[in-house]
Amino acid sequence: MTSKQYRLGVLHGDGIGPEIVPSSVDVLDAAMAAAGAPAIEWEVLPLGRSAIDSHGIAVPESTLEALEHVDGWLLGPHDSASYPEPHKSMLNPSGTIRKHFGLFANIRPAKSYEGGNAIVADTDLVIVRENTEGFYADRNTYAGTGEFMPTPDVAIMHGIITRQATERIAHEAFKLARVRDKRLTIVHKANVLKMTTGLFRDVTREVAKQYPDVTVNDFHIDAATVHLVRRADKFDVIVTENMFGDILSDLAGEVAGSLGIAPSLNSSDTKAMAQASHGSAPDIAGKNIANPVAMILSSAMLLRWLGAKFDDAAVLDAADRVEAAVTRTIESGVKTRDMAGSADTTDFTAAVVAALAAK
Ligand code: ATP
Repeated sequence: MTSKQYRLGVLHGDGIGPEIVPSSVDVLDAAMAAAGAPAIEWEVLPLGRSAIDSHGIAVPESTLEALEHVDGWLLGPHDSASYPEPHKSMLNPSGTIRKHFGLFANIRPAKSYEGGNAIVADTDLVIVRENTEGFYADRNTYAGTGEFMPTPDVAIMHGIITRQATERIAHEAFKLARVRDKRLTIVHKANVLKMTTGLFRDVTREVAKQYPDVTVNDFHIDAATVHLVRRADKFDVIVTENMFGDILSDLAGEVAGSLGIAPSLNSSDTKAMAQASHGSAPDIAGKNIANPVAMILSSAMLLRWLGAKFDDAAVLDAADRVEAAVTRTIESGVKTRDMAGSADTTDFTAAVVAALAAK
């Protein structure tokens, strides 16, 4: 069994980030110890509002350089809407990092727990979101943004869908479907955005021919929301463009119990970043009431990605242990307020760490 020692970056970010990211570090430390794997070497790096204060920029060059040399990293959420200008108008921190490292795949699972306040019980789906193009103006151009105002009263945006990026994300989605329930849903809006999302649908259907064991269907984005809100348990893997994936994954997270339990991993073939699906939740920041589950499970996804990359059974075992400990903790009734429980962030984290030690 390989027993590699990993070096992971830690970027706390803004809002609830400094609460949920350290919680995830504690959980991963306990999981690696329980799995008999070498302790992770953590490298804390500046990012976000505190980096603006200390380095004059939200994503310092030194942070990007350090990330080149780690095996992966945990990224807390950012509250870029509250940054002072010119930082507020710049590409936001996660966009900057995703673009810099070409993290084209955003994998966003939504899974419900028994007693976990789910709207649809037995939800267990994964949204595979294309991360580099589509209709989000901050990431579909080489320089500048795809959104501009020729006059103060006219705002224009453009979107981009390419065959190359669609094929790349489609393969990710089909490979994932193959190790799950072998069902894949393409979400688009090809009745209106005929050329762009039509290309996304058609290219994904072409890629489907290489995966004849996977059953494929497709929905318009509006129809997909209707089905998801009542029948999320009927979906397995959903592949979609960037903006649809962002919106659909918030919905799926909430349907599964809370946005606070919705994890995500951003990856390329060589780099991976754990990042909760939710934002910085400024309304509850600093109160020690945030749900750390999304960030913890995102971190477990990173362990799983490392396990596959390095063929490392010990780190895969640690990922299994994290997921099992979170499930046991929630099912034992220890939950944060967003899931109709009363535990605070510290209590919840301690309960997961105790569950890991108990196994
Ligand atoms: P962004 O655009 O940056 O993703 P957002 O506008 O989607 O942000 P969030 O910051 O995700 O907004 O918050 C949406 C709501 O969900 C808020 O009421 C917030 O308090 C709640 N929320 C988000 N994350 C958590 C969490 N981990 N625990 C508890 N509540 C959360």
